[in-house]
Amino acid sequence: MEAKKAIIIGAGVAGLATAIRLAVDGFEVEVFEKNIEPGGKLTAFENSGFMFDAGPSLFTSPVFLHDLFEYANEPINQYFLYEKLPLACKYFYEDETVVNAFTNADLFAKELNEKLGENEDAVKKYLQSSKKLYEQTGSFFLNYSLHQLKNYFTKNFLKAFTGFSFSHLTKNLNQYNQLHFSNKKTVQIFNRFATYNGSSPYKAPAMLSLIPHLEHNDGVYYPKGGMISITNALYQLALKKGVQFHFNAKADSIIASNKTVKGIVVNGENHYAATVVSNGDAYFTYKNLLKNETVANKILKQERSSSAFIFYWGMNRTFDELELHNIFFSEDYKAEFNAIFNTKNCFADPTIYINITAKCEPETQAPKGKENWFVMINVPANASINWDDAKALCRQNIINKLNKILQTNLEDCIETENILHPSLIESTTSSYLGSLYGTSSNSRLAAFLRHSNFSSSIKGLYFVGGSVHPGGGIPLCLQSAKIAADIIK
Ligand code: FAD
Repeated sequence: MEAKKAIIIGAGVAGLATAIRLAVDGFEVEVFEKNIEPGGKLTAFENSGFMFDAGPSLFTSPVFLHDLFEYANEPINQYFLYEKLPLACKYFYEDETVVNAFTNADLFAKELNEKLGENEDAVKKYLQSSKKLYEQTGSFFLNYSLHQLKNYFTKNFLKAFTGFSFSHLTKNLNQYNQLHFSNKKTVQIFNRFATYNGSSPYKAPAMLSLIPHLEHNDGVYYPKGGMISITNALYQLALKKGVQFHFNAKADSIIASNKTVKGIVVNGENHYAATVVSNGDAYFTYKNLLKNETVANKILKQERSSSAFIFYWGMNRTFDELELHNIFFSEDYKAEFNAIFNTKNCFADPTIYINITAKCEPETQAPKGKENWFVMINVPANASINWDDAKALCRQNIINKLNKILQTNLEDCIETENILHPSLIESTTSSYLGSLYGTSSNSRLAAFLRHSNFSSSIKGLYFVGGSVHPGGGIPLCLQSAKIAADIIK
């Protein structure tokens, strides 16, 4: 067995980023991916000339990709191009109110004042607090393991600890937002940020008020070629650094003896390495690859993040009133989250997200004069719903609402259709119950309960990706790779 060899199970964003970092650190790296291509949730497909990103559509914090390319000493712009957008999102309400959420904090505050009568200074102050919270507390969380005692005796921890107030922990995001804004529509906009890691604003701590900083101070970006270009860039960089990939290669088990990892078994064949990194869901890693039901069940005690039902529609015309990112709000947000996390059913008046990359690249993302719609609603990560049966209901709920707000008949415009739902997300990416972001942040301690980036019982075994620290979403997955690789080094 070679000491400097590392095996990565899974070629999701975090698996790719870990492979790159370890290859740069001098490891001989092999990645085993069960699918036929890299990317995991971050893949794409084409249907009749319409291009669709299958999973993520919102790109923030490019700084973490820059950091990775700098680590690899490669010029990012030769792999990946992106642009900053003036608008983060366009929000639509049932009463015909429309709010443009500008990425410039001052413009956004002005818009909220004009459209919703919100106090401009209150908005600016909120976004400044969000920035401070992110810079002081968030950056500790994103750069260090919470499971290594030594990290709590550093200046960075002290800075993080003094960066938040009592109310960030004691209030939930909705209570915190109600304290800062007068109009319930503004509260709804700022509550929505809880969904960025699959959580409920009525349960998640006000700590999540650091997320708006990313959109309204730092910015929202569009990667040229769509989100898939992130996967392509990481894959090309990994190849450049000498990483070897095996596709159609499902790891069946992890070999360990004397509390030390030895390698993995793929298709009945043993592959040995002193370092094994699982980019698969932590629950499935324990249950299926380590056959450790005790730890698997312990992980299950943490609530899963929400999942999604997605319709990919090729539309036979363009819609001038829409932008790249659009949200059509539910009239009863609280009841919607109650359905997602408590009663666990499909809500009749869901908040609808529409992403249209043809708005940024009309020549390449859809046939001329047409649009590629990625239409998503949040649904529970739930095994007891038959998602194939739920499709008709979800589709009708979406169409009814959009027809009303957009004053159109969408049925006449849908030329092609593909779908993705929780069971399909689970079968394609092995994410338990199809949760988008691993475990939710619906409790004060959620951040500390997420599985660590290393095993405390098996030497040489590490974990990266959305189901472990620091959590789901592309930026956090990239940082899980950094934290794990730093520990391995
Ligand atoms: P995953 O993408 O989960 O990939 C894990 C890989 O491991 C998969 O390829 C899987 O096949 C492989 N694997 C698992 N088990 C094995 C095994 N035994 N052997 C071999 N291979 C295995 N994030 C954002 O930042 N912005 C967004 O707008 C956004 N929207 C989203 C919308 C949807 C519909 C979804 C599904 C997710 C969204 N996310 C978004 C979340 C984001 O996509 C994920 O957090 C992130 O991509 C997860 O990356 P990961 O590294 O954890 O790996």
